[in-house]
Amino acid sequence: VSVPEPTVSPAGTGTQLPALDSERLRSTLEEAAQIGRWRSPGVQRLALSDADRQMRDTFCAWCQDSGLEVRIDRVGNVFARRPGAGDEAAEPVMVGSHLDTQVAGGRYDGVLGVLAALEVVRWLEDYGVQTARPVEVVSWCNEEGARFRPPMLGSAVFAGGLSLEAALEELDDDGRRFGDELERIGYAGTARVPGPPPHAYFELHIEQDDLLERAGRDLGIVTSAYSARGMAVRLRGRTGHAGSTPMERRQDALVGAAEVIAGLDALGRQGGTRTRATATRLDAWPNRAGIIAGEALITLDYRHADNSGLNRMTQEVERLITDASARRGLEWSAEAVWEFGSGITFDPNLARLARDNAQRMGVEWLEMTSAAGHDAYWLATVAPTLILFVPCVGGVTHNEHEEIEFDRVLRGANVLAATVLEAAGHELKPLEER
Ligand SMILES: [Zn+2]
Repeated sequence: VSVPEPTVSPAGTGTQLPALDSERLRSTLEEAAQIGRWRSPGVQRLALSDADRQMRDTFCAWCQDSGLEVRIDRVGNVFARRPGAGDEAAEPVMVGSHLDTQVAGGRYDGVLGVLAALEVVRWLEDYGVQTARPVEVVSWCNEEGARFRPPMLGSAVFAGGLSLEAALEELDDDGRRFGDELERIGYAGTARVPGPPPHAYFELHIEQDDLLERAGRDLGIVTSAYSARGMAVRLRGRTGHAGSTPMERRQDALVGAAEVIAGLDALGRQGGTRTRATATRLDAWPNRAGIIAGEALITLDYRHADNSGLNRMTQEVERLITDASARRGLEWSAEAVWEFGSGITFDPNLARLARDNAQRMGVEWLEMTSAAGHDAYWLATVAPTLILFVPCVGGVTHNEHEEIEFDRVLRGANVLAATVLEAAGHELKPLEER
């Protein structure tokens, strides 16, 4: 039985190119998975850590070896450019994602999108394909927000959604400043921010749920996004002796926090598949044995498939906090710490291009809504943008056991290649003339 070789066939004149170099992509991913290795098979590459620096250095070396010109902007985003045949000032087609990870990070979240983009330009180089526009591989800084808030910080600054000054002043838990850490690892670049919007932006990312897997499809074309809000809630009670203070006289901030946390979880469950709600972090003070907690700081993260739903959730979250505080004799204050996804639209023309390519290449796709935040959200505010999802096993993510079926992911990456090629403009000859 002979299985036809997979090909990449962009729309147009029946042109076909051999597929991406699967072994090269696989080995590049494996090499990256060794950097910041943690709780095998996972990785931990917090933004601006030594592991992040090592990953960036390796990535930049790969880009330079492929003849790309590397540029770094003032907030630490890295761009690697392959020039186009046309006007040097033409806006590039940008493709990428992020190289940082969560504390319990996996081997694919983010890095897959950056290295698939690198594979696309290596593949253009392999076949001497001349695109009209430049193609740029990009790695956005501090996407996860696991060390510095907010998440998607680098792309937010690039798109003008957050000021450079505010970003540089962000502190981590140990009081280290974002700007100092960026200098320390050698990635405080000089390219200006906000950056010039690209002609188009593409991001390939693992789905981080199991809808593709269950539907038996290999590609998700993201057409909408959940609206998400992050909120820091401070509950203030009164410290007291854990033994001698009578129960009815306690103003226990931790008990109030527990009620808010459980109530938020219940709120998330009420909305079925359209809502998500979690308290992701709890800090208590003084957090010592023998003493009733006088203060608790909770970070809430809640999301809704549509924006009006998110606003309703906000009202319910506030009621939850008010009620718990009243029952426990606490004062409270709340501050929004991030918001993303509201009113985001992805480009219908790029989506159609990807659909047509998938169709032609025999890749089954599904239209999807993204519940996770991505750098593409910020890019979508300044340029035509498309996110492509590829399946991850069991939807396990932000976890060291993140896993993919490589062959399925490769199909999505080949659709990415075809779609990038078209968006960048090319003069490929039809097969019969080659
Ligand atoms: Zn990610």
